Amino acid sequence: MCFRPTRVVFKNFGRAAGASLEHTHSQLIGLPIVPELVQEELAGSKFYYNYKERCVFCDMIRQELQSQVRVLLENEEFLAVCPFAPRSPFEVWILPKNHYSSYADLTKDSCRLLAQVFQETLQRLEKVIGKAPYNFILHTAPFREPELTYYHWHFEIMPKLTLMAGFEWGSGFFINPTPPEDAAQYLREAQL
Ligand SMILES: [Zn+2]
Ligand SMILES: [Zn+2]
Repeated sequence: MCFRPTRVVFKNFGRAAGASLEHTHSQLIGLPIVPELVQEELAGSKFYYNYKERCVFCDMIRQELQSQVRVLLENEEFLAVCPFAPRSPFEVWILPKNHYSSYADLTKDSCRLLAQVFQETLQRLEKVIGKAPYNFILHTAPFREPELTYYHWHFEIMPKLTLMAGFEWGSGFFINPTPPEDAAQYLREAQL
């Protein structure tokens, strides 16, 4: 257990994704500890950094921009991509192209560019999967951390198109019938 303050920023859209109110809304919950899932991601990123001396997310962004196979859209500062090993069909991550570990350091101009990519991503998702329920979660460095060289903030958007069943609960593995390359292509080609 790690006693550092952190916050969980997320959105639940649709009853099956846990939405408790009819109107769409995001939520922010402050916590006195860093939750296990966040700690795991921080530790994994640090492990990679110690091994390669590079941020794992920066490496991933470089590869995705080069191949363009799983990228669905980008602007000067942000990209939306279907990750290499998505847990659910049409899982999408939104990341800043430049390295920052904390979302809180965003400038006003960057906020506008983030909103542009976020809005178009959600519009494309709606075109392809309709008003399917989804969760999105902000992954960012815990409070009061200095800029971390090994961690890179991002949003993860997880549509709820499949169910967590015995295998998933029992193993922590996810079965995803839609390859991210196909998902990215459908999303790119959706007519807005
Ligand atoms: Zn990075
Ligand atoms: Zn993450």
